[in-house]
Parts: sequence; structure tokens; C-alpha cells
Amino acid sequence: MAEPGWAKGDPIRTSDDYLESLRGRDLDVWLFGERVDEPLDHPIIRPSINAIAETFDLAERRPDLATAKSAITGERVNRFLHVTESVDDVVAQNRMQRELGRLTGTCFQRCVGMDAVNSLYSVTFDVDEAHGTQYHARFRNFLEMAQRQGYVLGGAMTDVKGDRSKGPSEQSDPDLFVRIVERRDDGVVIRGAKAHQTGCINSHWILVMPTMRLTASDRDYAVVCAIPVEASGLTYIYGRQACDTRAMEPGSIDVGNAQYSGQEAMIIIDDVFVPWDKVFLDGEHEFAAPLVERFTAYHRRSYVCKSGVGDVLIGAAALVADYNGVERASHVRDKLVEMNHLNETIYGTGMAASHESFRTAAGNYENDGMLANVCKHHVTRFPFEIGRLAQDLAGGFVSTLPSEAELTHERLGPLLDKYLAAKDGVPTEHRVRVLRLIENMTMGRNAVGYLTESMHGAGSPQAQRIQIARLADMEGKKEAAKRLAGIDDGTR
Ligand SMILES: Cc1cc2nc3c(=O)[nH]c(=O)nc-3n(C[C@H](O)[C@H](O)[C@H](O)COP(=O)(O)OP(=O)(O)OC[C@H]3O[C@@H](n4cnc5c(N)ncnc54)[C@H](O)[C@@H]3O)c2cc1C
Repeated sequence: MAEPGWAKGDPIRTSDDYLESLRGRDLDVWLFGERVDEPLDHPIIRPSINAIAETFDLAERRPDLATAKSAITGERVNRFLHVTESVDDVVAQNRMQRELGRLTGTCFQRCVGMDAVNSLYSVTFDVDEAHGTQYHARFRNFLEMAQRQGYVLGGAMTDVKGDRSKGPSEQSDPDLFVRIVERRDDGVVIRGAKAHQTGCINSHWILVMPTMRLTASDRDYAVVCAIPVEASGLTYIYGRQACDTRAMEPGSIDVGNAQYSGQEAMIIIDDVFVPWDKVFLDGEHEFAAPLVERFTAYHRRSYVCKSGVGDVLIGAAALVADYNGVERASHVRDKLVEMNHLNETIYGTGMAASHESFRTAAGNYENDGMLANVCKHHVTRFPFEIGRLAQDLAGGFVSTLPSEAELTHERLGPLLDKYLAAKDGVPTEHRVRVLRLIENMTMGRNAVGYLTESMHGAGSPQAQRIQIARLADMEGKKEAAKRLAGIDDGTR
């Protein structure tokens, strides 16, 4: 008789398969000083798993949006695992990301893996061209396996970095950037730590990549490889979020978003063995910079996901204005217009970057770097302004509400129902719920994804300004000005 549901080793196709695939992995996960027995069943961790599960549900509901036919397997695969084969493929990623942001109101954690796949696809090709290595074929084999099995991939780029004024090999502790500590006949051994790793505990494989430009003396730090999440030697230290323990309380109001959250953890990599077939860069230090640049080009326009999250926050702000009876006030309408304007500016620049995609030497498609950096730079600011306006429209109760325990209290509940009421016909609970959602997204656990990740994820603001300066073609602009101003200084 066929085994019901998902069995270990079966391809993961549905959200139920995905949830079951995470069970019983005996990962070394730590939260509040305790080892977590089963992350899937932990009330603080589970909402982050739900957010990834939504990517599987969307693939079933909207295969046009969230799956694509892969040239590698010849089958339809989840779009997060797909190597872009056209401009439309790159654009479709953004459409999917907005929809998932809107569905979850948080970070659904799969963009890093998707962008790592696409940048590694072309960079491994370029390294092979330069060095006669075999990385691209190895990477394609890995990808074929991941696509066939439907795995979730995490992308681990950010090292802990120690003294920021020094490079990897200049640090007093050589482990502050992930490095190869041993090369063996059958593979390499790596050591170090990766910080802020989105969705790592909810993934099946982690793609390890260098975090910055490297020099010849950093050769051992020039390592790209895939490691299974359950590899021996990996420890995951969970990043706690504001108000996270509310998920351990009874009730569903105070959490704000009971279903979904993001997840970040620090990964300690304590001498983890990686066989050669999962090593995609070993010492070719000059390819670290192109990899970081290509990865961040993809990833910085992936932040259109925040426009989907922004849709939720704008909706919440409009709802609270309705409930308070001020929806017709001109300044309220104007604030909602401003929020939409900012939100669509994020989406517009990300989409523009994707529409301007070009074919790489490896054959996949990569978006425009300048527009992607402009998109991400907007993201470092606009969600904060949208959040400010949402708090403005919410009123002070966004941060002074009593808890659900009082709302349901025998004596206090009816009093609060009376005194927290707003417009006639609006149940007090609805008003409270939407206020808690705004709190969740601007100060609570989903502010990690909507605000801090917007600031630092895919690089802090200065990283985009450096790229914008590099890509701005200032000489070309000066020439254009000289031509129209009639300046002939002999340089043209
Ligand atoms: C919620 C969240 C999710 C994330 N998810 C992932 C993920 O999934 N995978 C991943 O790989 N990374 C992830 N990141 C990491 C992200 O890319 C980094 O946070 C970002 O690159 C900044 O690095 P940092 O946090 O070490 O900050 P720092 O590097 O310490 O930066 C702090 C400040 O110092 C400045 N600074 C840093 N170095 C220098 C220097 N040499 N000279 C001058 N100024 C400097 C920066 O510009 C910034 O203003 C995530 C981050 C967050 C917050």
C-alpha cells in the first residue's frame, strides 16, 4: 500500500509535504538558552515556517505566477528554484514576490536562495571559462537535484566580519569570515559564522558565499558551497524579535499577525565537511567581487517584496481611518495617497530593473544593476515613512492598548468594549485587531522584515550608494552637458 503523504526522500510539492520534510531533523537550534526539540512545533518559530509554506500553496494555486518550466529538468519547478531563461522570467519573480508579501505581511524567506541560484549560475560559468574548472557543471547538478526534490535553499553571504576596517585575512581572529580550514582528497572543511541568516532553519540546503571583495591573501575565504541544513557541525542561534514571546501567550489578537513571521538566525559553522561535488568556488578570490555584485543586483530588486508587505500596511492604515470615522478627511486621504506613491515607487524601480534584464554568458537573464540599487535604496527609506504615516493614522492606541486578557476579562472586557469603540457599527475587536497588526509591522516582530531588513538586508544604504556611484557613467553625463552647452575642450 502506498504510504500516505510525504515520505523522506519524496519530492516536496505541497505545503504539507514541506511541513513534513522539516520534521525530525534533529537540528542544533537554540532559542532563549534552550535547545529547540522540534522547530516545526515551536510557537515562536512556526509562523516563519508558515510563511515559506505559503510559497508552496501559491505554486499550487497560481502555477503561472509561482512556477516555471525548467530547462534543467524539463519539468515545472517552483519559481524560487528556477534559473531565469528570459526577461519575462525575471519580471515574474517580482510579481510573485509582491503577491507573497501581500499574502503574508512578512518576509517569506526564499528570495536569498533564488537570487543566489541565479548569480551562481553565471558566476560559476565565468570562473570555468577563466580557470578551466568544473564548477558550473557541479552547480547545475546540484540545482537539478534541488529542483527535482523541491528543496528550499537559503543563501548565506553575510559574515560576522569583526573589525569592519579590516579584510578577512587581516582580522586578529581568522574565523570571523567563513574559510576553508582543510583541503582533503574528498572535499573541504569550512569554519566560521554567518549572521542574520533568513529562513535558514526552514531550509533544506544552504548556499555559502563570500561576503565581499577578496584579495590574493584571502584565498581560503574564497569559498562557495552547498551544505545540508542538518550537516554535522552546524549550530543555529535564533534571532529573537520584538514581542516574539506574545506567540507563546494564549489568544490571537496581541500577536498582530498570528499566522506569519520572518526568521533570522546566526549559523555557527564548526568544521563542516563539504564534498567536492558541492564546492562551487575554491580559492578563485577575484570572483568574489563579481559574485557579490551580481547577487546584490538580483537581490536589491527582490526587495519589491516590501511593496507587497506595504500593501498590507496601507490597507491597515486605511481600515483604521475607516473605523475611526476619519476616512473622508482630506489629510487622511492625502496620507494614503502618499503611502501608495512611496510603495509603488519601490515596485516601479524593481520592475524596471527586471524589465531591463540582459542575457549573461551562461545563458540566464540578469536584471539591470543601477535600477536594482535605486530600488533597494528607496527600500531603505520608504517603508519607514509608510510606517510613520500608518502610526499617524492609527492614533496612540497603536502602542497603549490593553492586552487580550483584559479584552476578554469578565469585568474589564465589557468596559473596554464600550470605551475602545469608535465608529458605530464597527466591532471594537476589529479596531483592536487592526491596531495590533500595525504595531506588529512597525514595532513588533514583523518590523524586522519590514523595517530593519529593508535597511540592511542586501546591504546597508551606503552599499547601494557606492554601486550607484560606480554605475552612474558620470563621464558620459558630462559629455552630454558639454555637447549641449557648446563646450569644446578637446576631450571629445
Ligand atoms: C532582517 C535581516 C535579514 C537578513 N538576511 C540575510 C540573509 O538571508 N543572508 C545573508 O547573507 N545576509 C542577510 N542579512 C545581512 C545583511 O546583508 C547585512 O545586515 C548587511 O550587509 C549589513 O551588514 P552588518 O549587519 O554586518 O552591518 P555592518 O556591516 O556592521 O554595518 C553597520 C554600519 O556600518 C557601516 N560600515 C560597515 N562596514 C564599513 C566599512 N568598512 N567602512 C565604512 N562603513 C562601514 C555600514 O554602511 C552601516 O552603516 C540580513 C540582515 C537583516 C537585518
